[in-house]
Amino acid sequence: MTTTSSLLEELGLVPVINATGATSRLGGNLLSAPAREAMLAAGQSYIPLDELQARASEAIARATGAEAGCVASGAAACLFLAVAASMTGTDVAAMDRLPDTRGLRNEIVVHRAHRNPYDHALRATGARLVEVGYLGAASSPGTRDWELAAAITDRTCAFFYVATGLPDREVLPLATVVEIAHRHCLPVIVDAAGASSLGASLTQFIGEGADLVAFSGGKGVGGPAGSGFLAGRRDLILAATVQQQDMYVHPATWSGPFGDAAPGSAEPPRQGIGRMLKVGREEIAGLIAALESYAGRDHAADDAEALALATEIADRLQTLRGAKVSLVGPPDSTQGQVIVDFSAAGGPARAAEVSRRLRGGRPRVFCLDTFIHQGILVVKTPTLRPGEAAVVVERLVAECDREKGHTL
Ligand SMILES: *Cc1c(COP(=O)(O)O)cnc(C)c1O
Repeated sequence: MTTTSSLLEELGLVPVINATGATSRLGGNLLSAPAREAMLAAGQSYIPLDELQARASEAIARATGAEAGCVASGAAACLFLAVAASMTGTDVAAMDRLPDTRGLRNEIVVHRAHRNPYDHALRATGARLVEVGYLGAASSPGTRDWELAAAITDRTCAFFYVATGLPDREVLPLATVVEIAHRHCLPVIVDAAGASSLGASLTQFIGEGADLVAFSGGKGVGGPAGSGFLAGRRDLILAATVQQQDMYVHPATWSGPFGDAAPGSAEPPRQGIGRMLKVGREEIAGLIAALESYAGRDHAADDAEALALATEIADRLQTLRGAKVSLVGPPDSTQGQVIVDFSAAGGPARAAEVSRRLRGGRPRVFCLDTFIHQGILVVKTPTLRPGEAAVVVERLVAECDREKGHTL
């Protein structure tokens, strides 16, 4: 049997040690064993995908407390579908018209502090973001209730909120946004893909009244990296999922997603704007299995283990040349992480140089480079496999002992 590493070697690739956390650019998290088995099994049979999506909806509902759910190709795909659903509702003619939004509600209200590069997924539907609030306002919060309410027009289709799970002085609490939006009968869409504590966030934002919450399948839950899931209100999930599922169907034999009659119409919609975000049976089955096994895990024990590993690495790096090593952020999180701070000697340039050397040498080690501009490299421990912590320590010591500018 071909091992994973020999398979990659045949392609001329050298696998890396991932100390960045579950980042999409390194393939996301490791696939959990139940997900791996489910994906393999799903690929061996034919199965109507709407029926499989209906099972996924039930699994997502159980895990999140939402009414329903659907699986798409990532959290970004789910955000795209959430906006499409908010603009069209169950109107099949509106679905067919997208991304032409003429005549549709197409404005999404968002805190200015929540703008981020992933929101391209929202704009790609044809919707427009309407920003409120300030960055760096002298008196917090950077956004006031009335600013949010004043941004609503007769074209508003939804509110968008990025859930980090951490306090943020520049935005209103999600509960306040929900209250204002619901007073105007508007849905709140939450991006939970970057939330600091996935275990809690699965139910938290639905519990706080969010109407649609997007999660990544390949980040925390150990599902396929090409998957994400959207949890939320049943009518909106229906509108989202019919715009993604394959609609090369005949009205006479189509029974609708989840086995229901087509929402708001006896006719199935045409191929929707989300059709290019399709997932196969492998992703849907893998996501269901991953979600069920993730929900059954002891998240506190997993966090404690990652923190213990971080403490061990930090202890062994206390004499690291030219860097101060600690457990305290950024990023401000309780996850297992080691902060390697070069700001006192070499700063951002030195941090970047060490990072490049760690990536280029053998074994290849990828640390999180998000804070290089502050002279900081972060070693994330949740994605380290057994035995890799010692290698990370060894490589860091070796690279920091090298003189600046010394070539490999
Ligand atoms: C990772 C991430 C996404 C995208 O998730 P995918 O599953 O890779 O599509 C969206 N938003 C935030 C905040 C993220 O961190």
